[in-house]
Amino acid sequence: MAKIQMTTPIVEMDGDEMTRVIWKMIKDILIEPYVELKSEYYDLGLVHRNETNDQVTFDSAEATKKYGVAVKCATITPNAARMTEYDLKEMWKSPNGTIRAILDGTVFRTPILVKGIVPYIPTWTKPITIARHAYGDVYKNVEMQVPAGGKAELVYTDKDGNETRETIHEFKNSGIIQGLHNRDESIESFARACFNYALDLKEDIWFATKDTISKKYDHRFKDIFQEIFDKEYKEKFDKAGIEYFYTLIDDAVARVIRSNGGYIWACKNYDGDVMSDMVATAYGSLAMMTSVLVSPDGIYEYEAAHGTVQRHYYKHLKGEETSTNSVATLFAWSGALRKRGELDNLPELVNYADCLEKATIQTIEDGVMTGDLYAMSQLENKRKVNTEDFLKAIDERLKAML
Ligand code: NAP
Ligand code: MG
Repeated sequence: MAKIQMTTPIVEMDGDEMTRVIWKMIKDILIEPYVELKSEYYDLGLVHRNETNDQVTFDSAEATKKYGVAVKCATITPNAARMTEYDLKEMWKSPNGTIRAILDGTVFRTPILVKGIVPYIPTWTKPITIARHAYGDVYKNVEMQVPAGGKAELVYTDKDGNETRETIHEFKNSGIIQGLHNRDESIESFARACFNYALDLKEDIWFATKDTISKKYDHRFKDIFQEIFDKEYKEKFDKAGIEYFYTLIDDAVARVIRSNGGYIWACKNYDGDVMSDMVATAYGSLAMMTSVLVSPDGIYEYEAAHGTVQRHYYKHLKGEETSTNSVATLFAWSGALRKRGELDNLPELVNYADCLEKATIQTIEDGVMTGDLYAMSQLENKRKVNTEDFLKAIDERLKAML
């Protein structure tokens, strides 16, 4: 069979530890035998980020803006332990944070459902997609630890130098302060990204914040969503037979638990971070979750929702066998290749991406799976395989489909 040709390169962001090992296996076993892969490669592994003073992360985000579609491997966000482990010059920032800030997008995370794995909430028979605003709030905060006997104020200086002040707190004893911000523009693109995605999926969208307590900050989010919805989306939603509604986050949590799934839940940055982990866990595993960052100007960055699976990597380094789940990383690749195929009008590439996903799900439903799924699956004929054999089992099915 002739290899499938591409016209525009994909931006390829390599990463760290076990996911870096999986990254190469996926390319070797499942992609390069079928696709004449065109990619612009950026090594976001911590060693190379340190060598380039993190410039490579910025370059990869700029390349993503240029080409429009990227696929990213999980990367280490350094902490104190990593400083020594990798002999780092600085505690480099989270690459995801850097890329999200540059692309100013919304992250959509959807669980991958397979037969044999019943969610912890068994009534969740359809996927719940979490839409997470990826700019600002606590991820762009300014913090201080302050001694006793002072006063903290919120000060805004306008362009003519006039000040508006609010007292935050008079500190009799020592304490802590945090400053947060967001931009109307970013909230507007968050709203549009959510409404567009809902129309794409033909699913309802819910949005929730804590506007009863945060009467200006969270309330602004609520108002912007409503204005944009009424002006630009109401008719389209009516036509598509889908619904937008706003509710308080406490109420949303209760409704989500009682629901059957099949909708998008839009969350502010921090809520989305936490709730997507909760939802992923309830559906089974972070390794069974797709994740894509969509920017307001239609740029897509696909990634896995989980980390670099450090514990498995150390086993791998010792020469021990691992059984690490590659599904999320695989779906990042298939998502990026499909989007490239759609944008460049390459039906063969789109079909390949569809088959790769079908073959993956088929493999698990045939009973062949990695350890994490083996522990959860209710299939009677289930069999646990190692990291590489899982990919080879997918390849057998993919070959037959293509
Ligand atoms: P993690 O890599 O997601 O792994 C946590 C645990 O979840 C693993 O030890 C493993 O459990 C299980 N797990 C996660 N992914 C799995 C997979 N694909 N297959 C099988 N089991 C899987 O999180 P972490 O250990 O907290 O973080 C490790 C590194 O990843 C950190 O340096 C962190 O900065 C980074 N990180 C990166 C991203 C990103 O780039 N998107 C996101 C989160 C964290 P068992 O060990 O019990 O098998
Ligand atoms: Mg998280």
